[in-house]
Amino acid sequence: MAEKKQKVIAEEYIPEVKSRVITIDNKDYLLQNDAMFTFYERSMGEFSPFFLAIRDEKKILGCKCSKCGIVRVPPFVTHCPDCDFTPTEPVEVEQIGKMNTTPPITYFATSMFLDKAPFGRGRVILNGADTALSVMLYTTTGILVPGLIKKGTEVKVIFKDERVGQISDIYCIPTSELTPEQIAKKGLQESELNWEAPKEPEFPPASNEDIAIFKQSLKEMRAVAGEMSRSKRARRAIEGWKRDIAVKTKGGEFAMYINDGNFRIGEEKLDSPDFIMACEDPRTLLDGLRYKGAITDAVIMKKLWISKNMEFNTVFKLDRLARFLVMEKKEQATR
Ligand SMILES: [Zn+2]
Repeated sequence: MAEKKQKVIAEEYIPEVKSRVITIDNKDYLLQNDAMFTFYERSMGEFSPFFLAIRDEKKILGCKCSKCGIVRVPPFVTHCPDCDFTPTEPVEVEQIGKMNTTPPITYFATSMFLDKAPFGRGRVILNGADTALSVMLYTTTGILVPGLIKKGTEVKVIFKDERVGQISDIYCIPTSELTPEQIAKKGLQESELNWEAPKEPEFPPASNEDIAIFKQSLKEMRAVAGEMSRSKRARRAIEGWKRDIAVKTKGGEFAMYINDGNFRIGEEKLDSPDFIMACEDPRTLLDGLRYKGAITDAVIMKKLWISKNMEFNTVFKLDRLARFLVMEKKEQATR
């Protein structure tokens, strides 16, 4: 007799084989064994034309009911449930539309989306469509902050240069950030946008008091920076990280240097920094470095602006730098 073949899923994990009833506090519960997988192939089913059109043709497809004419995007039904299951046909919709909700912004993302944060996530009704498409939202004007994209804001679909056939191949940005040519162009790609011209906030002219506050803040920041660079623990917060940051305030401009554990404040203006920070009152930043209020919060509250969305990660590291220094001081105090 042939030996029984060992299966990939062990016998006891097949629901019908080992499901049983267990009793807890005189109540019976059905306990089913099941298997879970982490690697899998998945057919996109009726969504395939939608994702293939994004990947290969830079088109957004919907499905149109041949009876009632409703256009659903994405095309999630082959037959209209409102019209006795009349067949639907694929149609292309426009790449411009209006937000039908104000998108919440994710600042602190899970590891899977860490390199994409901050991003907005909301629903857009593209012109020619009757249903809303869920999309990620970005801005080219600097950090994404609340109020920049609201319900009713007109946005345009942007296609990533490298597309794999996923919803993350596209995202939207406000049309107010685009030229008329860009708005008119179908299949506008990420690399065609200008990400290097963010809108810096403008400050009113500085008074003598502003200049005095600036000088005093700078002095105190240098002192904190010195402590940070000497703290073994604080250094770990910016290990392997290097950024030259230009900081603009009402009373004056200065530089912050993050260099693999070293943190330094300089009095000079930087010509080609990695990114720009702007805050009217330098004490906002000083407080953050002293661990009196997070710098990330200052960004979200629009007290501090940064020129590159993805540099929110660096702001996050500055907060850790401040926190680690305080932690080390506390430890030393209790020793
Ligand atoms: Zn219909």
